[in-house]
Amino acid sequence: MPEFDLVIVGGGPGGYVAAIRAAQRGLHVALVEKERPGGVCLNWGCIPTKAMLRSAEVFETVKAAAAFGIDADNVRVDFAAVRQRKDGIVKELTDGVTGLLKANGVTVIEGHARFTGPTTVEVFEPGPSPVFAGGPRYAATPSATAIRTVTATDVVVATGSTPALLPIPGADLPGVITSDGAFGVTEVPARIVVVGGSAVGAEWASLFAAFGAAVTIVEMQDRLVPAEDKEIGGALGRSFTGRGITVLTGTTVTSIAQTGDALVVDVGGAATRGIEADLVLIGVGRRPNTADLDLDVAGIDTDARGFIPVDDHMRTAVEHVYAIGDVTGTALLAHVASHQGLTAADVIAGHDARIDYDVIPAATFTHPEIASVGLTEDAARAAGHEVVTAKFPFAALGRAKTLGDSEGFCKIVAGARHHEVLGMHIIGPSAGDLITEGALAITLEATLDELAETIHAHPTLGEIGMEAALTGLGLPVHTAPPRKR
Ligand code: FAD
Repeated sequence: MPEFDLVIVGGGPGGYVAAIRAAQRGLHVALVEKERPGGVCLNWGCIPTKAMLRSAEVFETVKAAAAFGIDADNVRVDFAAVRQRKDGIVKELTDGVTGLLKANGVTVIEGHARFTGPTTVEVFEPGPSPVFAGGPRYAATPSATAIRTVTATDVVVATGSTPALLPIPGADLPGVITSDGAFGVTEVPARIVVVGGSAVGAEWASLFAAFGAAVTIVEMQDRLVPAEDKEIGGALGRSFTGRGITVLTGTTVTSIAQTGDALVVDVGGAATRGIEADLVLIGVGRRPNTADLDLDVAGIDTDARGFIPVDDHMRTAVEHVYAIGDVTGTALLAHVASHQGLTAADVIAGHDARIDYDVIPAATFTHPEIASVGLTEDAARAAGHEVVTAKFPFAALGRAKTLGDSEGFCKIVAGARHHEVLGMHIIGPSAGDLITEGALAITLEATLDELAETIHAHPTLGEIGMEAALTGLGLPVHTAPPRKR
């Protein structure tokens, strides 16, 4: 007889949410976690970066205080205090997760799990961690001391992901760090090169630039945040450039070398050259945490990239074994991991649940902030839709003006015939909060007319969805009407 109904390996936003739901469904649940509860999101990702980005935002706002009629002299950054505030928020939230797991009756086992059969794991004392200065966050290999064996009827693999490494000469030099290593940086560097212009790289670039570093961001594709609508990537690039960040797109980093005190980053592309830096932050993607899990012992296969394939019920090909979150490689976002966790827990508890990936909002907390949901204009056209696009600038919104933050726009992609909302793309203040209207619109198959007819409170940033919809209908109120021929 197995000891538990369910054992979950990994306590990130996938694993801990699954554990809570499964316990609420009446299952006897164990969760094995080798680090701290909350996973990457709470400890090394979403929350600590946003805490520090908020400090950056406050710094920039206070520096610009004169524009608001406020005198603020001698504004300076206390980076140690910025990090301390971040640590406090992380502790509060991870302690909260520990409390929630306990309150829901989940048995938390500290240690590194390895499969000894499809539904049996052996738990070892974790290896030394965390290891900063660019190295892995977790020691991949646990100590040899086995703590206990855990048996369960069902198993969920929720082991998450780790920064991908760049296979170029010099990537292992001191001063070359990943996103994890960036949390070990104790002083704002004078010069930093960020390799990778997607969400993670762009956020770190935005943060260090706000704190006064000379930042160069290098992206292989032709624009920053290449997964976003191309107008958003272009706008972010122009905004970054306006803030003094050197943006190199269509550019590949080929090697890094130590020359005297400086790291020299060689880039190819339009013109090959070396860029001097004190720190190089590699943010080029993630790889799944599947090493040292002995997945093969359980018969669990991975795809060519190392991720664990699952169906819409989060089932792997092995009966009673499920996988959720980053380790499935579906969409490497905390809220997707959590929804997969809820789905897996419900399925295991006997409910008919399945995940739907049609509407996944995503936000990038650069300055200006970015958020999107649904199809980009190019993706909609490629999928065969005839589309209309509707765009409205924050500069024409009263609330954005009063906030002193009116850069950016909202773009809606809608079907040409019925005006159903297919995608919403925002760059500007509170984009991450505003995108929920787009997510709801797509879920409810709302049209531009319905967005436009919904009374939005004034003056709010939320009016941007309504104003963009009006523009798409050819009835703009707060921007000039289309020219009559
Ligand atoms: P993880 O959070 O990676 O958790 C996996 C857990 O499993 C870890 O705690 C690990 O210690 C544990 N584990 C691994 N192997 C074992 C083992 N063998 N035994 C026991 N335990 C094990 N997403 C967003 O949605 N919004 C954001 O703003 C955002 N910002 C980010 C910023 C950064 C810098 C980074 C790096 C990521 C960000 N993400 C963001 C992504 C988000 O953090 C991940 O998508 C999310 O954490 C994935 O959750 P998970 O549960 O799958 O895995």
